[in-house]
Amino acid sequence: MHYSTDEMCNYCEVFLSYDSSLTVTYLIPVTPEFRSEAYYIPTVGSIGLGINGIPIKGDPPSVTTAEAGIGGTGSGNIPALDHCGGHADPAGYYHWHFIPQSINTVFDAPEYNFTNLYGISCTNTYIEYEDHAAFAGLAKDGFPIYAAYDLIDGANTLPADVATTDECNGHTHATEEFPDGAYHYHALETGAPTVPVCLMGSYVDRNDFTVQ
Ligand SMILES: [Zn+2]
Ligand SMILES: [Zn+2]
Repeated sequence: MHYSTDEMCNYCEVFLSYDSSLTVTYLIPVTPEFRSEAYYIPTVGSIGLGINGIPIKGDPPSVTTAEAGIGGTGSGNIPALDHCGGHADPAGYYHWHFIPQSINTVFDAPEYNFTNLYGISCTNTYIEYEDHAAFAGLAKDGFPIYAAYDLIDGANTLPADVATTDECNGHTHATEEFPDGAYHYHALETGAPTVPVCLMGSYVDRNDFTVQ
């Protein structure tokens, strides 16, 4: 990471470097198993990966609920992210703090209205940013992660209107990818970040990436 520190400037830009030599290795159950109780993702804890292999992480430090001003966190603010909800960490690997396929539902939400006010939206052509019901990735417990909606009869439908959702915003029903029915998580429709706050399945407790 390089900081531009012009003494006369009123702001400082942060330039993040991407390291294309990094290798990411995941170990994910082929047959997911439910835990006895939900596992809440700690700050920057690993959640899983997007369908293109990019890591999905829990809340960054500045959105933890600690009292504002204590330990430099708790501001409620989100650190600098690109318009699809990702950034590179100091080690150089890119990761997401949002489910990018449906981050535009957040920007469009009345409480933010960022698209109308500031023209902010995710338009990365590598991401199905207009498919707000997309199969978005896999959690590290092996359960699928979908964007904010379920596609029912061709219409984006709130997950809770399809089948009861639990504390991790997960539920079980048939999807296009899992026609026999499968438990899966959904991104939150609004709020920030939108990643699942907890996992209902068992996972292998190890680092999900290695720096070589
Ligand atoms: Zn981050
Ligand atoms: Zn669903």
